[in-house]
Amino acid sequence: MEENQKKTVNTARLVREKMSDGDFELYLYSLKKLAENNYENNLTFMTNLYNIRAFQVKAQEEMLENPDMKFAIIVLDFANFNTINEFCGRDVGDGLLKCVADALRCEAEGKDHTVLAHFRADVFAVFTPFEDKSELIEIVNHTDKRIAAYKIPYKVLPAFGICIADSPTMAVSTMRDYAMLALNTIKGKFYAKYAFFDDEMRKQMLLNKMVENDIIKALEEEQLLPFIQPKVDMKSGEIVGGEALVRWHHPEKGIVMPMKFIPVLEKNGLIIDVDICIWRQIFKFIGNRIAAGEKVVPISINISRQHVFDSVFRDCIIDFSKEFHVPPELVVLELTESGFLEDNEKMYDHLRYLKEQGFALSMDDFGTGYSTMTMLKNQPMDEIKIDRGFIVDIENPKSQSILSHTINMLQDLDLNIIVEGVENAAQQEYLLKYGCNKAQGFLYYKPMPMEEFATLLDKA
Ligand code: C2E
Ligand code: CA
Ligand code: CA
Repeated sequence: MEENQKKTVNTARLVREKMSDGDFELYLYSLKKLAENNYENNLTFMTNLYNIRAFQVKAQEEMLENPDMKFAIIVLDFANFNTINEFCGRDVGDGLLKCVADALRCEAEGKDHTVLAHFRADVFAVFTPFEDKSELIEIVNHTDKRIAAYKIPYKVLPAFGICIADSPTMAVSTMRDYAMLALNTIKGKFYAKYAFFDDEMRKQMLLNKMVENDIIKALEEEQLLPFIQPKVDMKSGEIVGGEALVRWHHPEKGIVMPMKFIPVLEKNGLIIDVDICIWRQIFKFIGNRIAAGEKVVPISINISRQHVFDSVFRDCIIDFSKEFHVPPELVVLELTESGFLEDNEKMYDHLRYLKEQGFALSMDDFGTGYSTMTMLKNQPMDEIKIDRGFIVDIENPKSQSILSHTINMLQDLDLNIIVEGVENAAQQEYLLKYGCNKAQGFLYYKPMPMEEFATLLDKA
């Protein structure tokens, strides 16, 4: 047997003993593909660096053969490579990629166990042994400097993601995914050049996986329930409305808060199903109370920005209002300010239509977005919810000035105003002084199960 072949057989044995079945299968597949091709086919044409498959096999071999060494993967990607191609031409873009490859080769020079790759387009990787984290940061800094020295009439923005192997049997493909995850947290941000895949990201990733795996079942088994947080008139203490806030009653994890799962669902689109599930329960709740002749107040529902571009949400809200015999005046549609960033005519049509039907529109998180002032001029809003950011440091005279002028301006525009996140008496005092009477916050009530809210209304 040739020396090389022997080595591969040895490594394969090592891999089989130490890897999980899934990782082992992936490894075998890569190995097979590698064997099918000759050496040239395993290099990326433009830069002569390994392609992703060859990189995985070579790097895995290094790890398994050197179990006492520490290894890491650094991936590199540009936030704006397409723009560079467009602005400066493909030749310049290609030149930049070659410059990256050369920079990486410089880093690898004279070092054993290092494997370089050009995965695709503008994505590169370095697999390297190290002793101290600072060596990895040094590789990043050197490479960044060499890239910056490639003079083109455009600011290039490379970002680096780093994953350190947690064991000699960790799959290189997993390391690569984690490094990419770390990279994506900083891509395009001027202030950060590199990010390590850390425990926080690992936790977030596990949570995201849990959400993705469990959410369909949660929808089927009605684990998603609205809590309602009362809105109050600060002068009289009267409950003038409520906001529906989703809570996930997870069979193992207990109550999961929305910020833990909504961001994932906004990415995979399932927020639409979750919203509809909450809206339905709220319409039903109001409808039942009306039918029983009990007291009702308008309840706000949150409308994720995913919805506003198609008409399904509009029809859905109108259908629920008919099905449960709920007059539109009793449901307020809360849309976050950032939902209006894309100036989309269709979206405005849907909102105007709903408004014509009698639903009130409320702009949530006012003051946290970018183009707030223009939006106020153009949007068909009825209510503005001032974000708690305006009142957290109310003792600060600058905050007071911003708050009082904001309230004045909104009153001038004839908009209903409510402030959220009121937690203490000082905040309430300032708000009343500036002429804002409606609030929502822990000072009055926390979000509560629907039944509790019902009891509260019954007592009122
Ligand atoms: P949001 O719409 O701005 O809702 C207000 C959030 O502020 C709620 O958090 C509420 O519990 C919290 N809050 C209320 N009063 C206070 C206070 O005095 N102090 C502080 N610190 N917080 C207060 P929650 O329930 O965790 O919801 C977080 C966000 O999740 C919501 O922010 C909303 O953007 C989203 N969300 C909640 N339910 C739904 C839903 O059914 N659909 C959609 N699309 N998004 C939802
Ligand atoms: Ca809201
Ligand atoms: Ca809000």
